[in-house]
Amino acid sequence: MADAPHVVIIGAGFGGLYAARALARKRVRITVIDRKNHHVFQPLLYQVATAKLSPADIASPIRSVLGKYRNVQVLLDEAAQFDLTNKKVTLKTGESLGYDYLIVAAGASHAYFGHDEWSSLAPGLKSIEDATEIRRRVLLAFEMAEREALINGKRPMLNFIIVGGGPTGVELAGSIAEIAQKVMAKDFRGIDPTRARVVLLEAGQRILPAYPEDLSRSAERQLRKLGVDVLVGRAVTGLQTGKVLVGDEVMASNVTLWAAGVKASPLGNILGAPTDRAGRVMVEPDLSLPGHPEVFVVGDLAAITDKSGKQAPGVAPAAIQQGKATAKNIWRSIKSQPRKPFKYLDKGNLATIGRAAGVAEFGRLHLSGVIAWIFWLTVHIFFLIGFRNRVMVFIQWAWAYFTFQSGARLITGNTDLPGGKPNG
Ligand SMILES: Cc1cc2nc3c(=O)[nH]c(=O)nc-3n(C[C@H](O)[C@H](O)[C@H](O)COP(=O)(O)OP(=O)(O)OC[C@H]3O[C@@H](n4cnc5c(N)ncnc54)[C@H](O)[C@@H]3O)c2cc1C
Repeated sequence: MADAPHVVIIGAGFGGLYAARALARKRVRITVIDRKNHHVFQPLLYQVATAKLSPADIASPIRSVLGKYRNVQVLLDEAAQFDLTNKKVTLKTGESLGYDYLIVAAGASHAYFGHDEWSSLAPGLKSIEDATEIRRRVLLAFEMAEREALINGKRPMLNFIIVGGGPTGVELAGSIAEIAQKVMAKDFRGIDPTRARVVLLEAGQRILPAYPEDLSRSAERQLRKLGVDVLVGRAVTGLQTGKVLVGDEVMASNVTLWAAGVKASPLGNILGAPTDRAGRVMVEPDLSLPGHPEVFVVGDLAAITDKSGKQAPGVAPAAIQQGKATAKNIWRSIKSQPRKPFKYLDKGNLATIGRAAGVAEFGRLHLSGVIAWIFWLTVHIFFLIGFRNRVMVFIQWAWAYFTFQSGARLITGNTDLPGGKPNG
């Protein structure tokens, strides 16, 4: 096996993990490098952020996910540089690693459109750390309002503003409104959590712009039913402590969350190939790097367009399909067979809007409400990594559905809330 081709995979997200699994039964040596020791099921991060699930329910140690494959080794490190001529990756720790084939699947993070200073005022949601920070802020806002009411006898403001009406913004807004209405309402004495104001700000003319228009409208209706103020055509122009600026309008906010933009991992630029505006690498039809057929870029970091000009979206199924397709192409190359171009199979879109509500698009079939939500539940349980996680998430959802309890309401870290002091 020592003479088998060495495949190095950067990133154990959906793209990297599925590539590793697809190659693991072949005669290759695989090294998976990730800066975290765990794979995160990002579609359920908002449930950790809103205290519905615990971090360990949606994350799995990469080492244990890949543990059964003897030809796969896992390194906890960060890729920092590439020497494409000599086929080497340099790690943050200073070590270099040679490869025969390289898969770069380092994903994306949030973009603040040139205002990186906004990140501390309005955290985005990408990692377990982000989710627990958002959870800390959301829960603290209720606690601080309660303290203000009980000690100073005031009726404090409780405003949550979510910037960005894509799926993450919609899911966060629906979930925060729901915990305020259904979960918190029972546990506080000084404040009435059902009076919390949840605002979803979207710069465009409709939320869920990537969905068909009828589903955007339906999502908006379902959010309003939960008490969310959906404000479209409102581009945020500034963030200050406790304030969101929309042109001349100043909106007071206890907790501001950012779900408005995505930029690809900086590794895209480091690879030196042309990138698009979001920093995604413009790859060849087989997902390889132009001029370097032994290097592949997959998932959120890759920009690939089909013959009709349609781009593969930044979603988990696209990353999974690209990871698997790349594994097959690497194996074809090893066997001196011709590669196949990547073809994205669109399996539809799903978003949930709190309990028993959601929207789903499967081609011409558009679903709303409880049916969409059931699809959402089934798909997410099915694709969760790890049997334990599937069982745990299923049990917790069932428990929460019948009891309106939310088990993961832990405030970890400090108890300061930037801009969170409620006004009387
Ligand atoms: C909040 C949220 C909700 C989402 N909801 C949905 C949804 O409902 N449905 C859906 O289909 N998609 C959803 N997505 C999108 C989906 O999660 C992504 O498209 C998918 O994760 C992309 O997979 P990937 O492998 O390209 O990157 P990722 O899954 O992001 O994995 C990248 C990996 O690379 C590692 N990494 C990064 N840089 C380095 C480095 N320099 N060195 C080593 N390791 C590195 C990271 O630690 C990470 O493990 C959501 C995303 C987010 C953030």
